[in-house]
Amino acid sequence: MQTSPGGRVINLLDLDAAGLAAFFADFGEKPFRAKQVSHWLHQRLVGEVGSMTDLARGLRERLAAVVEIRAPAVFGDTTAADGTRKWLLDAGGGNAVEAVYIPEDDRGTLCISSQAGCPLDCAFCATGKQGFNRNLATGEIVGQLWHANRALVADGFDAPWVRQGHAPITNVVLMGMGEPLANYDNVRAALGVFLDDDAYGLSRRRVTLSTSGLVPALERLREDCPVALAVSLHAANDALRDRLVPINRKYPLARLLEATRRYLERAPRDFVTFEYVMLDGINDSLEDARALARLVREIPCKLNLIPWNPFPGAPFATSPRSRILAFQQALIDAGYVTTIRKTRGEDIAAACGQLAGQVRDRTRRQLRLHAAAASPARQPAPSRSLP
Ligand code: SAH
Ligand code: SF4
Repeated sequence: MQTSPGGRVINLLDLDAAGLAAFFADFGEKPFRAKQVSHWLHQRLVGEVGSMTDLARGLRERLAAVVEIRAPAVFGDTTAADGTRKWLLDAGGGNAVEAVYIPEDDRGTLCISSQAGCPLDCAFCATGKQGFNRNLATGEIVGQLWHANRALVADGFDAPWVRQGHAPITNVVLMGMGEPLANYDNVRAALGVFLDDDAYGLSRRRVTLSTSGLVPALERLREDCPVALAVSLHAANDALRDRLVPINRKYPLARLLEATRRYLERAPRDFVTFEYVMLDGINDSLEDARALARLVREIPCKLNLIPWNPFPGAPFATSPRSRILAFQQALIDAGYVTTIRKTRGEDIAAACGQLAGQVRDRTRRQLRLHAAAASPARQPAPSRSLP
């Protein structure tokens, strides 16, 4: 069988609609099987082929011999005082990634990871400081949504949209660990599953990808699958951005903003969100705010200011609240919708840039960081058992 070279077991969560269709064609089954199985996997959230009761028993047995349904193993599951829930997921080789559920009155948002570590090494980011371990497979990305929905359903999750037959998670943001556009093919396939009406059926407006600015991949995404977009800006001039977001040396602001403007022609929302992390004394003066306002003048956008979340050993401090408010006001005065990101799940280290901070890491950089850490690493809570 082509889809199983060397007898390898296929993880059904790795397959988007085209992948499932190809798999069932190879398996000698009619095309409708792909949709039928997709409903079982992503809508009824079953964990084994044996539960797909409208497939003939013989087919189930043949399938069970060559496929599996495997999301990353969960080795931590903690809920913060504000209801934010973080799953620590095994990425193999001592690496972990995280998925974070953020409850809100009118939606349930899941923040998912795309890589174990990150190759882009932004100066202020705990994930970047871990170094890069590997890209997540499509099934590991999709598996985060699959698992979160299953876990919430199993816990009796209730919300108005759930009573109307929708899954607990209504929105996905690719803002966890890793740079999604640096793992393009697997992220692209996962986005396909999120949007597919035979799978999760999320609208493109409800799926947001955050990037630090890999311009060629952003241009591909514009053609392939333009979901809502957030761009991590963090500085209003190239000299500073080169230091904070090193990928800027390759794709400087002018190129990034031009690519962003072009992306918006195809995007599901008519604005982009620019993210701007607030670093004390680095990028948070009123002059920085004015420069930012001038920089993004040509682009329909909203601005989201992120109070920097500290992690051990980082040479930064969070801007004082008064300065963040003044920075926000300057942008509002310049005509921009500007919000300050609420920090969620702080007590379980689930905030932006703090993810998987306690995980063993093999890079020398991380060893130095750990050596500098003032407090011992926290242990993840034991995982809850799944249905
Ligand atoms: N790699 C992508 C998406 C993951 S990071 C990106 O960089 O956009 C999601 C957001 O968290 C980005 O805006 C990132 O710059 C920000 N971030 C990273 N570390 C942070 C920290 N320690 N405190 C606050 N925000 C942080
Ligand atoms: Fe990677 Fe984003 Fe962190 Fe930069 S901010 S190191 S791109 S995860």
